[in-house]
Amino acid sequence: MKKLVCDRCGVELTDKDDIDIACEGQAVWEATARARGAEARGIIPCTHFIRCGGEMVLVVDSKIAQCWQRLKRTARR
Ligand SMILES: [Zn+2]
Repeated sequence: MKKLVCDRCGVELTDKDDIDIACEGQAVWEATARARGAEARGIIPCTHFIRCGGEMVLVVDSKIAQCWQRLKRTARR
């Protein structure tokens, strides 16, 4: 199961449609972050971004997440 979690305040977005929409907006957010001279940490800004300044990062539950972490580590070598 995939969900979006804010890396600051921890608010969660678990609705599949919301996640799909967020992923479609990822490129826009990355461009926005780059324009500010920063690197986007997440896919989209948190719904409470003004208060918490956090970004929504994609979290995949359980075993899929572990596999993905391993893949990422392998790819970095
Ligand atoms: Zn937040």
